[in-house]
This record gives sequence, structure tokens and C-alpha cells, in this order.
Amino acid sequence: MSTLRFHAVKASLKRKPLKIKEDKRRSEIFGSNVFNEVAMRQYLTKTSLNSVLEAIEKGTKINRLVADHISTGMKEWAISKGATHYTHWFQPLTGATAEKHDAFFETIGDGLAIEKFGGNQLVQQEPDASSFPNGGIRNTFEARGYTAWDPTSPAFIYDKTLCIPTVFVSYTGEALDFKTPLLRALQVVDNAAVAVCKYFDKNVKSVRTSLGWEQEYFLIDTALAISRPDILLTGRTLLGHSPAKGQQLDDHYFGTIPARAMSYMRDLEHQCMLLGIPVKTRHNEVAPNQFELAPIFEEANLAVDHNSLLMDIMQKTAKRHGFTVLMHEKPFAGVNGSGKHNNWSLSTNTGVNLLAPGKTPMSNLQFLTFFINTIKAVQTHEELLRAAIASASNDHRLGANEAPPAIISIFIGDQLTKVLGELETVTKGKLSPKEITDLKLNVVGKIPEVILDNTDRNRTSSFAFTGNKFEFRAVGSTANCAKPMTVLSTIVANQLKEFKVEVDELINSKSMKKDDAIFNVLREYIKTSKAILFEGNGYSEAWEKEAKKRGLSNNKTTPEALQIKKAKSTIALFDNLGVMNKVESEARYEIEMEDYIHHIQIESRVIGDIARNHVVPTAVRYQNILIENVTGLKTIYGDQFKDFAKAQLVLIKEISEHIETINSTVTKMTEARKICNKEASLEKRADGYCNRVKPLFADIRYHCDKLEIMIDDELWPLTKYRELLFTK
Ligand code: ADP
Ligand code: MG
Repeated sequence: MSTLRFHAVKASLKRKPLKIKEDKRRSEIFGSNVFNEVAMRQYLTKTSLNSVLEAIEKGTKINRLVADHISTGMKEWAISKGATHYTHWFQPLTGATAEKHDAFFETIGDGLAIEKFGGNQLVQQEPDASSFPNGGIRNTFEARGYTAWDPTSPAFIYDKTLCIPTVFVSYTGEALDFKTPLLRALQVVDNAAVAVCKYFDKNVKSVRTSLGWEQEYFLIDTALAISRPDILLTGRTLLGHSPAKGQQLDDHYFGTIPARAMSYMRDLEHQCMLLGIPVKTRHNEVAPNQFELAPIFEEANLAVDHNSLLMDIMQKTAKRHGFTVLMHEKPFAGVNGSGKHNNWSLSTNTGVNLLAPGKTPMSNLQFLTFFINTIKAVQTHEELLRAAIASASNDHRLGANEAPPAIISIFIGDQLTKVLGELETVTKGKLSPKEITDLKLNVVGKIPEVILDNTDRNRTSSFAFTGNKFEFRAVGSTANCAKPMTVLSTIVANQLKEFKVEVDELINSKSMKKDDAIFNVLREYIKTSKAILFEGNGYSEAWEKEAKKRGLSNNKTTPEALQIKKAKSTIALFDNLGVMNKVESEARYEIEMEDYIHHIQIESRVIGDIARNHVVPTAVRYQNILIENVTGLKTIYGDQFKDFAKAQLVLIKEISEHIETINSTVTKMTEARKICNKEASLEKRADGYCNRVKPLFADIRYHCDKLEIMIDDELWPLTKYRELLFTK
């Protein structure tokens, strides 16, 4: 009983749910640590307030003098809430959030000190950027990186620190973060959507993207989690035999939330409330110890910030409760993985959700326009969308015949399939008044305001229309939502721009009426977008074959999936719309390929270490016990011993065989790594790690897992699946 495993199990059994102090209503505390409009009204002059509001609404610049006033107000507010430090808070391309704290405190001589925070410190900082990934941007240009205030996402206080959301750019202006391209893409889709909205309503001035993410995660007792080197270093288990009971009884999904987990969630939600993150739902997920948390949707940039912040708070809060949060997409083999559904839609400043059917034929034509353009955009750029969610960890879901698969397809349900079918038969060219009336009354006018469709129950389609929004389900649980949101916004913007050109062309040169022109263009889009529509569910071999026939991509691994990012057409798409220039696009490709290689490299080292230093020595120890036993039996029974030592002899032999295979495979894997590391080309290195190093994991694992079920439980050093998954 001396192994870390048993200490960990003991420690986990002693834990009790923490008591959470909740003495105020949630609505009362909501946003109280956020420098929101209420706080601004109290701490800012009218000019400063208006300046910030205008920057949020219209993206206008805030001048330095006003910034000085704002910073003073912000500082007073923060200090009144107990903050001592401030930081620019940003999202470098590591995927995590970054911060460097400075105290408000400053000395002014004569042993005196004051609290100071000027406009300059609010607006811009120069963190040491040298350790953040930059994909060669800084080497090519300038070593310095700057963070600059993003007034559209409000400052907040976390851990007594005033956090100011910022973008992170190089000296020459290239984006070194996730937020900058996202902000640009949101602006681009805003402009493109407004232009199209004008066909239907001249009063539309702006269109906002909304995002509601759903975060799935596992909660594992910390003692148990850190007893496993693989969880500690890679966030997932690299080996472990499946337990006798897994998720087959479906007794966890939507079941009673265990007491410790519940106390953790309440604590987490309390902090979310203070920080203005509007969390709303919580429930058990499919796998044991798997949960989900989702907020009410928000403007996409804010929603992305909130998700990044949340992931950080989740880890910190978990520590207090003796939990480790596993965000990994596939922490346990044979058990459901975690995703982060991105619910997405567009809405106007006049309060119309452009992806919700409306009350009138006119508003429904607008809905259909945005609906069909989105389908067309995804059809055209399905491979790019797949690339936007590619990572070593998400490959375990997308590439492993799990749902959703690596094939991007759109589910729209029966009702809308029928509508599209009817629109497809619209006359080419000018429509007769009768046809227009008929269309408006019987097709467009008949779309119900609430679309009920239960056929997508398994929720496994990668991109599904769910009544008033699209739900991008293939996003991984560790992802920064900025990536898929940037791509989605860009491709939809590009599509809407093309649509506008085509419609205008028909109106101007063919002197068609506006509605006729719209119907004509939509009809062609429906015809050319059919391949992406798929009402089936999840992964199947038949769908894989069918998708191939339809010309859809099926990139199962990250290195394959990322190739589209460096295609000329992709670079031009981002560049033309001003979302990312060539350097920025190429830098991201490089960073993501490197990131993939590093992940597999680390996993490979860890599995090699565990196999050689934990599993094999344990196997040898157990084998020695067996040998001792057999020798003893021989002493007692002489030649007859074989009758009594049959099982032991078989075990001894089998253990040797497993040890031998583990050892030779680890050696082979190390050699494969060495060869990969010498490859000069990024593509060849990634390919080697993907196709020569990673496949050996399964072989090593197989034999280790066999040993796990052969060896005396008392000797086994690695915390087992049943302990990790069923300790509550
Ligand atoms: P589920 O998908 O689990 O059934 P819901 O469909 O109710 O749950 O909502 C999931 C998420 O979608 C929530 O974050 C919700 O706020 C968000 N959502 C709802 N409407 C929209 C919308 N118009 N745009 C973006 N997100 C939305
Ligand atoms: Mg959902």
C-alpha cells in the first residue's frame, strides 16, 4: 500500500463538499466586478463615458486626454473594490490567457506613495513578447510586441487585479493574438451583413455576431489526477484498462449532480456572476464525472473573452475543491470526449435575429437569405472550417470515428429541407406576379416562427441549424472560440458580399425586381450547396463513402487539416477582407503545426516513461512473486509442481512477452522521434509524428493495459480508470 496511487485514493476519500457562501441574489451581484455601464456612469465624466460608449458602438478611437480621465475613473473604481494591481489581459497564440501584473502603487519621494494609473498605462503596454509564439512574425519584423486596450470588452477585477482586455500586436501591427483577427472579422461580417439587410430594411445600421458556447469538462479529484504522470503532463490518460463499468448504463447523463461537484459549480457560478459571465445551465454529461456549463449567448468578442476567462477560473476554483478540471477533448479512451458547441447567429441593431424565421414573408425572405448564404459559405469553405478546429487533442474526437466526424456537414431538418426544395424550382429570370405571390404565401410565408425539429436528437452533426441559430459542434473543449468564430465570420462575410454583387448585377443589368433577383440567386445557391447538407447522424462508414463522392474533405488528422490554411486561396480570402495578411496567416499555420508536433512529442515521451519506469518494473516485480511461488511449489511437490503451477507459469510467460513488446516498441518509438526531429521541413516532421510516432502509442498501450489486468491490484502503481471516473 505504499504507492502514490493508494495515497491518492485515500486522500480523495477524505474530501467533503465545501460550503459556499451565497447570501445575495445572483441578479444583485451580477457584474459587480466589471467596469460596466453602471460603474462607468458612477466613475466617469459624461464626455469620457460617451467616448467609451461610442467606441463600443461604432469602433471610434478614444483620444489620449479622454483616456487619462477614463484611467483615473477606472482606478478609483478598482481600488474601491480592493484591487491593488492592474494588468493588460490578452490571448496570445498559445491558446491560454496571459497577464503581467503591475501595482497601482508608486513612490513619490520623501517616503510617500500614491496609487497611480494613467491613460498611457490603460491604452498601451509593451510586455516582453519574446516568449510567446509568433510564427516568425517578430523575427521578420521587430522584436517588440504591444498590447492595446479593447474598449469593446469591459475591464474586470479578478483576484484583486484590474484586468484590461487587450489585443496583442507586433511593432509593425501584425496580430500576435486571437482577438485581433476576430475583431477584424466581426467588423467585416457586420459591414457585409448590413449591406444585405438594406434590401429588406433601410434602418439597419449594424449587425452583431452572437455566440453562446457550451463548455464540457471532466472533474477529477486532484490527488488522483496528479498521481498519474500522463494526466499531469498531457491532460489525458495515455493508458489504462477500461473499467468493468463505463457509461453504458447512461446513468450519469442529466443525473443528480454529485455533492462535491455541485459545490464546485456553485462556487464557479458565483464567480462568474461577479465577473458578468451570464452562466445559466449546468448538468451532468454522458460520461462519468463529465459535466457541462453554458451561459446565455453574448456578442461574440465578449463571449470569447468570457470563455477564456472561464477556463482560467475553472482551474483555479477547482483547486480549492480538491478537483482538477480536465478540458482535454478525450481524457479517457472508451468514454465520451468533450466538446464546446459554438451557437452562432447574427442580429441587427433593430433587434432582428437574422437566423430566426419571422412573422412576415418579407422577414422570412431575409431569414432565408442569411440561412442560405451561410450554407453556401460553409459548402465553399468546409475544409477551412475543419482546419479552424484542428488540434492534436480534437483529433481524438473528429478523426476517431466519434461524433461529430472530421467531415463538415450541415443539418437543417425536414421543414427547411422542404422549403429549399421548393425554392429550387423557382423560374429562371423574371418571376410572374402569380409565382411571386404564391412563393410569398405558400413557401416563404409558411415557415413557422419556431422551427421544431427533433430529428437531430443524437446531436452529432458537425454544423446544425437549431431553430434560430447554427450550432458548430465540432469545436473542441480546449479551443479558444476566437478561431472558429474568425473563420465563420470571414467566410460568411465573403459570401454575403458575393451575394450582394450577384443580386445587384441582376437588378442593374437585367433590370430585374429586387425580389426576383434575390430568388434567382438563392435558387442557384441551393443547387450548388447540396453536397454539404446531410440529415444523417454522426460517423458511419456509409457517410464517409458518400461524403467522398460528394467531394467533401475528410481530414482526420491535424497536419492534413491544416494544409488548407496555407493555400493561396485561403491567404487571399483573409487578406482581401483585411482579416489577416499573408504574414499573419502563415504565422498561424506554422504555430499550429509546431504545436501539434510538440503535443505528440510530449505524449510520446510520457508514454515511453510510464511504460518503462512504471509498468515494466511493476510487471517484473509481480513476475518475481510468481517465480518465487512456483519455486516454492516445486520444493513442496517436486516433479508434480507443474500440476499446481499451471496458471502461474502461463502468467510468467505472458508477462515476459508483454514486457518484451513494450520495450521494443518504446525503442522503436524513440528512434522514430529521432528521425522526425532531424527533418528540416515542418510538414515532414508533423507527418512523421502523426503517422510514425503516434500509431505506436496504441501498441504500447495495448500491452500495458493487458498487464494492468494481469497484475496484482495491490502492486499496480497507476490510478485506475474506475478510481478516476467513479470517485465523486
Ligand atoms: P442546447 O443546445 O444544449 O439544447 P440551447 O439550444 O438552449 O441548448 O442553447 C445553447 C446555447 O445557445 C446557449 O448558450 C444559448 O444562450 C445559445 N443561444 C440561443 N440563442 C442564440 C442565438 N440567437 N445566437 C447565439 N447563441 C444562442
Ligand atoms: Mg447545444
